[in-house]
Amino acid sequence: MNAHLNDARLNDLMSYLDASPSPWHATASAAARLTAAGFAEVATNGAFVDVPAKGYVQRGAAVVAWHRGSAAEPTSPVRIVGAHTDSPCLKVKPRADAGGHGWKQLAVEVYGGALLNSWLDRDLGVAGRVELRNGWRTVAIEQPIARVPQLAIHLDREVNERGVILDKQAHMAPVWGVGTARDGEFREWLAGQADVAADEIVGWDLCLFDVTKAAVLGTDRSLLAAGRLDNQASCWAATAALCSAGDPGAATSVIALFDHEEVGSESVSGAAGPLLEHVLERLALAHGAHRSQYLAQLANSSCISADNAHSVHPNYPERHEAGHRPLVNQGPAIKLNNNQRYATSSASAAMLQRVFESSGVPWQVFVSRNNMPCGSTIGPITATRLGIDTVDVGIPQLSMHSARELCGTQDAPWLAQAMTAYFDGV
Ligand code: ZN
Repeated sequence: MNAHLNDARLNDLMSYLDASPSPWHATASAAARLTAAGFAEVATNGAFVDVPAKGYVQRGAAVVAWHRGSAAEPTSPVRIVGAHTDSPCLKVKPRADAGGHGWKQLAVEVYGGALLNSWLDRDLGVAGRVELRNGWRTVAIEQPIARVPQLAIHLDREVNERGVILDKQAHMAPVWGVGTARDGEFREWLAGQADVAADEIVGWDLCLFDVTKAAVLGTDRSLLAAGRLDNQASCWAATAALCSAGDPGAATSVIALFDHEEVGSESVSGAAGPLLEHVLERLALAHGAHRSQYLAQLANSSCISADNAHSVHPNYPERHEAGHRPLVNQGPAIKLNNNQRYATSSASAAMLQRVFESSGVPWQVFVSRNNMPCGSTIGPITATRLGIDTVDVGIPQLSMHSARELCGTQDAPWLAQAMTAYFDGV
């Protein structure tokens, strides 16, 4: 890929990350790019009639988009790229106003497997979805309003030897002012920010987020630091690839960006829910397929499950299996686990290797140590639900599940390039 195009893609990734402080915004950012590329939104609660060749549905903080090839038949393959919109964070509880000892605090719930220490001493904004009496809206308040303050070393002398031990309930409530907490104060502040009356707000799904923007690091500009790289980097790559790919001919290209991966995927908008399955079946039925043809289509199809991988860490190289140590800026890593924490088979790995080779994108392989539990992804869930051959892949990164993660500047643009080739049937 020429350096100029890579730079343009990196800038687009950074603007995607900065515009997506919550899963709701990650979905909206994808939808905005799809709309600009000529994809039309279809309502999930209406009949799929006169379905556009390029369309998408949104359900919760998830989006499924498709591009049906002009020569697609009822049993033609579907090429799917899956990723997830959510990231570990602190979410604001319904009765938000807490505190004591002269401090106003926010009651928060820890969402997913957050590295708790990474949330200490950061300037935090609030973003997500606000439920109104009539409808809802997204809000992204980038003004730093809260902070989870770490205990001073003078009051915790052994912290560097013993480690930072944080109780999720006792130690993670951010301060957001001084004085006596008053019930309803957060709602009133939120109403002012959202420009609605306080009694219009009936609920919310709000994340705290680090207001620091994505940044390129290193004297060689080789590194990208940002919140939510896991897994918005993959959401961006999938969306960019679908928007830039051509007519898939006798196939259909699909991206599925799910919510709730970090908490097990079992929800209406998670990968274990029926969202993708329903969209694929409704698309098949809308084009006159019968059930047997639809099932044949699934058997002909394939899925790339994109979720970030662990780069080898220079301070902890022993945490990786010696022969499988992905490094940043060496290309996306195909992830294998014979115990099916990843869905990759030798056949699906070979399929993706062909895509990488034909698109000129370097690639690596990740396998975890036998004595180290392996994370999982939406890959095995998709494979199990739909019976579609799936391969797990991800760009290498450090600090996974930190409030601010680190990856290479090259790998996500390369991932998008390879996904474009996959959609183009290269
Ligand atoms: Zn992930």
